[in-house]
Amino acid sequence: MTRPVIVPFFISHQGCPHRCVFCDQERIAGRTGGLPTAAEIHSAVKAFGRGRPVEAAFYGGTFTSLPRSEQERLLTALQPLRHDGSVRSVRLSTRPDALDAETAGFLKSMGVASVELGVQSMDDRVLAASGRGHSAADTVRAFEVLRREGIAAGAQLMPGLPGDSRERSLDSLTRIFDLKPVSLRIYPTLVVAGTRLAELWAEGSYTPLTLADAVPLCADMLLACKRAGVPVIRLGLQPTDILERSVLAGPWHPALRQLVEGELWYRLLERLTAGLAAGTEVSVACAPARISDVVGQRRANLSRLLERRGTVITGVAGCPAAAPDTLTLTHAGGTVAGGLTD
Ligand code: SF4
Repeated sequence: MTRPVIVPFFISHQGCPHRCVFCDQERIAGRTGGLPTAAEIHSAVKAFGRGRPVEAAFYGGTFTSLPRSEQERLLTALQPLRHDGSVRSVRLSTRPDALDAETAGFLKSMGVASVELGVQSMDDRVLAASGRGHSAADTVRAFEVLRREGIAAGAQLMPGLPGDSRERSLDSLTRIFDLKPVSLRIYPTLVVAGTRLAELWAEGSYTPLTLADAVPLCADMLLACKRAGVPVIRLGLQPTDILERSVLAGPWHPALRQLVEGELWYRLLERLTAGLAAGTEVSVACAPARISDVVGQRRANLSRLLERRGTVITGVAGCPAAAPDTLTLTHAGGTVAGGLTD
């Protein structure tokens, strides 16, 4: 089946009664403004979809904290488009404590197929220090009511929040796997101007992750997701001009995912070259789409391997028959193969 085109509607802070310490939706999502009208929804679906099936997605804010009349208005606008086939599915994001059984039933009746929950952490100490205003138990309940309605549930996690640690981030991930999410987004915490977190950082009571901390941590998380079969549909915030101007501190990088994927490939290269004498020349084969991640940004993986191990990578070649997450290394002493999840 053709993958639907995602038509996003950003509802920003609309509906959100909270101010989490890290949040300034306008800067983070790069969008401001009110809720779309029915006419705006219809024209966006037609303009983006251009005859292709569409997934309408309400991002940002807390959809199910909007007044019910507004939720109805937005979802009702989509019904004719669902019936004529131009909208194939509807997704939205919300907070775990803004979903009860009745609300999940309402979403189901309006054709919502998937909900992304802003989980952020499964550690109550981290949630409290971050001003989230909900607990890990709320997340467990939200997954349960969505599961009962047959609505797919995804989760967002934010390693590096106040009170967080590497162990707590990894433990949150394990606890989320128990809830069987269909997808994950991982957003390492950034200090954004104008937020409470920026004040905490300025007064010295919050220390964000550095990029050097975040890359190996996110690599551990991504590897765990690959092993658990949970797709990570986003890693790191979408770069926008307003976000780049507003980040004061933290592990910001416009291509964070590529750094993290590169870290996983470096670990595999290290593992497969263990025991080779310094100066050994090795050629590498991988799936063509993986070459740039295997090589790393600015050939970082090759120079790191040379520096640490003395191994000389003579070339990285694309092999259409290679499985996506595997490498084959050939050197004078023979051939060795392995995969990221081995
Ligand atoms: S619940 Fe979401 S939209 Fe509301 S303040 Fe927190 S992060 Fe921002």
